[in-house]
Amino acid sequence: MSKRIRIAGLATLLLAALALGSGCDSLTAQSKTPKPPAVGQSDQQEPSGQDGQAGEAGQNGQAGESGQTGANGQAEKPSKPVAGQPGSVTVLVNKKVGLPSGFQPPNLVDDRELPFLSGEGGEKRLMAKETAEALKKMFADAKRDGIYLSVASAYRSNATQTQLFNYYVQTQGEAEARRYSAVPGHSEHETGLAVDVSGSDGKCAVEDCFADLPEAKWIADHVDQYGFIIRYPKGKESITGYAYEPWHLRYVGTELAAELRAKDLTMEEYFQID
Ligand SMILES: [Zn+2]
Repeated sequence: MSKRIRIAGLATLLLAALALGSGCDSLTAQSKTPKPPAVGQSDQQEPSGQDGQAGEAGQNGQAGESGQTGANGQAEKPSKPVAGQPGSVTVLVNKKVGLPSGFQPPNLVDDRELPFLSGEGGEKRLMAKETAEALKKMFADAKRDGIYLSVASAYRSNATQTQLFNYYVQTQGEAEARRYSAVPGHSEHETGLAVDVSGSDGKCAVEDCFADLPEAKWIADHVDQYGFIIRYPKGKESITGYAYEPWHLRYVGTELAAELRAKDLTMEEYFQID
């Protein structure tokens, strides 16, 4: 019986995770992934990575300024851009750079005006206030163009991420777990600044096929105007560490979003993080 109970417990955790949306991280229906995580769950994981992240360290990538300039003392070369501290909209979180332990986004809101795929409540409805405000504007403008968007998932607490990650470690071993689940502290969804967006019909939500839909095209063409970036763009997989995720948007503010778009840079490239 204990085994049965155990399985039931895992299933419950999984369902909870699904309900939470889990971001791109593992638990989301993905067609291509290797192994289906045990207990009847369909969702999957993005291959290399969804938003979960794996990695180590937990520093926050700042590099300090270093106005390291070249050769002859033309001293004042601009120092390289420095990512924001946790809690800032320009914070960098990836496989190598994690959030400090115990980090809690400062301004999470549950904005009832934002449409979600699932009508349920829960933490996945939460997001940073600036993220919610920008998203509402974006959704309203998209609607004017005949594009109806919804949120599949937004915030995920470190506790939830930890549960999920541990679940994968227990069932499939750490190496596999790291392939498609975020190491706690390394998921952008823990910042409240990341949202997984889909069409309001939920078609291909958090799946690769979303890339071919008109909603994805509209998003790609307009996100930066609202302060978002497609955090894991196509062609930059080796830099971000993640497969292309046309649905995973990261709020960075309009200024940085515009600059990243204009220069075709990822956050890693912009902040010169290896
Ligand atoms: Zn995501």
